[in-house]
Amino acid sequence: MERRKLLKLITAGGAALGLGALASACGNKTPKPTIDLSDPTVGKMTYRTNPRNGDKISLLGYGCMRFPTIGDDKSAIDEEISQILVDEAIRRGVNYFDTAWPYHGGNSEIFIGKALKKYPRNSFYLASKFPTMKEPTYEEGIEIFNKQLEKCQVEYFDYYMLHALKSLDQFKKVYEENRVLDYLIEQKKAGKIRNLGWSFHGDKELFEYVLAKDVDWDFLLVQINYVDWIFGPERRFDGVNGEVPDAKWMYDKLAERNIPIVVMEPLLGGQLAKATPEAAGILKASRPEDPPARWAFRFVGSLPNVLTVLSGMTYMEHLVENARTFSPLDPVTESEKQVLENAARAMRETHTIPCTACRYCMPCPYGIDIPGIFSYYNKCAKEANIPKSAKDPDYERARRAFLVGYDRAISDLRQADKCIACKQCIPLCPQMIKIPEEMLRIAKLSESLR
Ligand code: SF4
Ligand code: SF4
Repeated sequence: MERRKLLKLITAGGAALGLGALASACGNKTPKPTIDLSDPTVGKMTYRTNPRNGDKISLLGYGCMRFPTIGDDKSAIDEEISQILVDEAIRRGVNYFDTAWPYHGGNSEIFIGKALKKYPRNSFYLASKFPTMKEPTYEEGIEIFNKQLEKCQVEYFDYYMLHALKSLDQFKKVYEENRVLDYLIEQKKAGKIRNLGWSFHGDKELFEYVLAKDVDWDFLLVQINYVDWIFGPERRFDGVNGEVPDAKWMYDKLAERNIPIVVMEPLLGGQLAKATPEAAGILKASRPEDPPARWAFRFVGSLPNVLTVLSGMTYMEHLVENARTFSPLDPVTESEKQVLENAARAMRETHTIPCTACRYCMPCPYGIDIPGIFSYYNKCAKEANIPKSAKDPDYERARRAFLVGYDRAISDLRQADKCIACKQCIPLCPQMIKIPEEMLRIAKLSESLR
């Protein structure tokens, strides 16, 4: 990139484009982060004690699915920068690292194994997950589990999960008919798994079925954020696999059984970090210094049965901000819960698509940039750039803003109108988003605005 263009990005547009765009402008390499050695919050991390075994776990956990990468290849982890992030997280007291078989195309386990190698094994907790979605046989299951230990360069996993349970039929096939659950229970007895649990994206029937099994579940990984907690899950789940449990229902069921919770997606796929202007205004009026993400983290961190809150931190600024939020945790007060309810209501009034940018649906065989389109749509929804009618007084401005940005953000061949509704992406989405339907809706929207 020409120096002139780069300078322009860094100055006028740089802040708005964010570090990701800046990274690609600099040749697709994430800028080397700097370390703030004078930060007084270092050393003040809040820890939760696992009531079952006394593990002292940092309330902020490192989700290992969003390390910085080199270029657009999400499997090419930028190991130099990621190691700096891991080291800084540890310096700030983070001791829980959550990876999984499919993260970064299989490279997350390899990287985090290398990154943690220099630390004593008893100084961190490593979590990984069995790839339910691959539907392995018993023999394949054995191979996968041993491969995971090898990739992570460890003798045991501290926390190990049946990954992304979302279908009762699939659960029965993999864990009952193929007897993978028996095998994992044997590994727990053998000391290769210290805590056995599951991560969940399904309906109430599946939740209750798995919970009722004759297994001493040690913990669960579930999605909790203040918007879903207050208003229940969004319409994305309508008609999909029966009734979807809301976060509070799951939390109460687990608390009753004294099963600790690890929280994923506390920011609702980043949406609560970029709250709508109205919601952000409500939060700011109460705590002017706090960004919206801090409210979301404080909310889930204040729930007593939560062991740790995962965040996939790509940039040093996110890591530092999140670590400060929990160093120490300032729990939400009763009056702040009312503020959050008002902000949640404002968020819900703006329709956004609950895509978490996990990229499980990628690559789309027809080249559609699924997370890119959803991210762009959500940005426009929050900035009021989606006109509802041509009679809208703001129609012309919003129309132009939507179309100009859309063509810039998503290349023509990757836009929603190129989706042929093959439906291959549907079973891959843990958020159960009806992707082809949303693509059709966005394609119609952009067509009507042109
Ligand atoms: S339904 Fe559309 S977005 Fe999904 S895989 Fe098929 S073409 Fe891609
Ligand atoms: S559409 Fe679903 S699978 Fe694809 S990135 Fe978003 S949340 Fe992940």
